[in-house]
Amino acid sequence: MLIVVTGPSGSGKSTILRHVLRDLRGVRFSVSHTTRPRRPSEKDGRDYHFVDRAEFERKIRRNAFVEWAVVHGQLYGTSKREVTSRGKGGDVLLDIDVQGARQVRALDLDAVFVFILPPAFRELKRRLAGRGEDKPAIVESRLKTARLEIKDYDRFDYIVINDRLDRAVLELESIILASRCRLSERKAQVRPILRSFGA
Ligand code: ADP
Ligand code: 5GP
Repeated sequence: MLIVVTGPSGSGKSTILRHVLRDLRGVRFSVSHTTRPRRPSEKDGRDYHFVDRAEFERKIRRNAFVEWAVVHGQLYGTSKREVTSRGKGGDVLLDIDVQGARQVRALDLDAVFVFILPPAFRELKRRLAGRGEDKPAIVESRLKTARLEIKDYDRFDYIVINDRLDRAVLELESIILASRCRLSERKAQVRPILRSFGA
């Protein structure tokens, strides 16, 4: 199953996902492609595939993306390879923006959509500045985008409010675990059990 995680920049998506990926088995992170410059703490191939504009545009022409969008003036996209090579029945976590979530929704895949909200605008501002990895002008542009992005919140299946980190992590993990128990996901496991009953 695809777990699409969306929320304004600084709402805590990467932090929450890092914990979930450490805690839960059978979950894989979809590494996006981006033209944005790498932050000091990031690693190519782990956090993103960092590419130049020409390469990104080549991939668009080759139809290599499930979805892509211009976010904060840079190109970001999820490659088909990231989503399809998901191993045996594992879940794939996508950290994508509202435009990307809209595109994935339109594909009608087996996906769960989660929106992460910060507890308040002031706190978002504080966290973005505190992260210390973006220049002030970039932080301002991200805050401006955040005001637009949050309007999409009611198109998502679940809302996680990232006030206390431990609770937000637990909530996302609960969403993933509950999604695995859906009838549609459980059918393959149920069949042999029913057969053992002679049913
Ligand atoms: P995103 O991936 O959504 O852009 P990050 O995960 O980078 O956001 O988080 C932005 C900043 O806020 C980081 O410095 C992170 O350590 C901090 N942060 C995340 N969650 C919390 C929280 N619940 N309480 C306080 N700080 C947080
Ligand atoms: P950042 O530059 O802070 O890592 O990410 C900026 C925004 O781009 C975030 O909202 C993040 O979710 C989004 N993003 C990251 N990867 C993708 C992607 O592959 N597709 C889309 N549409 N958005 C992405």
